[in-house]
Amino acid sequence: MKPPSFDYAAPKTVDDVIALLKQHEGDAKILAGGQSLMPLLNMRLARPALLVDLARVDGLDQIREIDGSLAIGAMTRQRAVEHSELVRSRYPLLHTAILNIAHPQNRNQGTVGGSLAHADPAAELPAIALAVDAEFHAVGPGGARRIKAADFFVTYLTTALEPTEVLTEVRFPALPPRTGWSFIELARRHGDFALTGVVARLATDAGGRCATAQIVLFGVGTTPVRARAAEQILVGEKPSAPLFEHAGQAAGQEIDEPLSDVHASADYRRDLARVLTRRALTEAASRAAGSLA
Ligand code: FAD
Repeated sequence: MKPPSFDYAAPKTVDDVIALLKQHEGDAKILAGGQSLMPLLNMRLARPALLVDLARVDGLDQIREIDGSLAIGAMTRQRAVEHSELVRSRYPLLHTAILNIAHPQNRNQGTVGGSLAHADPAAELPAIALAVDAEFHAVGPGGARRIKAADFFVTYLTTALEPTEVLTEVRFPALPPRTGWSFIELARRHGDFALTGVVARLATDAGGRCATAQIVLFGVGTTPVRARAAEQILVGEKPSAPLFEHAGQAAGQEIDEPLSDVHASADYRRDLARVLTRRALTEAASRAAGSLA
């Protein structure tokens, strides 16, 4: 398939991007790496009159540490995050997740902002953002604003961004001390979108009991899902196999309307969520105890 005809602009500043989005409100789309948007155009599932390419806007592709968080510019290529020594050494959860996005050639083009703004519910980066309480920095005609991850993903391929806003940066907080993490997904082939995936964080107190827990399921519904009831089962308890099985059961039940498609039924995804949650919590607890790198 070929895309419908469209006009193209490659402004050099965020202000010029916003002016074009406002001028063509609702009929302009931002182009980042094109790895999701162009397939949508080719399949005629999106027909914007104007593509506003961010490629020539300076300053949107930095990887920095600011106030205890990793600040990644929206136009940072996924491959740059993958190869960043700062990310690999200090943000291993994000580094592990990035390796599961598509294939190297897609990651060479795909950007962090594009993946998050595209908001595919089976994508890895939205799940990580939700699991670490990331903060989204956006700029629009009304100025700059910050959006918490819990408020950013609204529904399928839909975020809190206005059509005239640009996502400029995302802040991923560093994990607190004594926090273990795990990222597990099941896909039909490496590089495919996840059929179901789990991101787990588990912090223990001085007595080795679970102090805080975050569990995010992805690939199961219209957005990534926080399994809050499962998290509450863990808090105050000593990590154990029966506890993680109980939390896994609860996590599987927190998927309201599990996706059912040609690749996996709703029941299969629900059971997969149970099993992968149990495995992820076991791995996160090992890391929290320092017995796993
Ligand atoms: P684009 O495609 O350019 O844009 C995506 C959407 O975000 C568009 O609506 C665009 O308007 C909007 N947008 C982009 N940047 C901004 C911004 N700064 N502000 C506001 N809106 C913005 N992704 C995964 O996560 N996991 C996978 O396993 C996976 N597998 C894939 C396999 C293949 C074969 C392909 C082609 C893609 C796959 N993808 C996967 C998707 C892709 O790799 C990217 O992760 C991502 O979804 C698109 O990033 P992009 O920079 O190309 O964004």
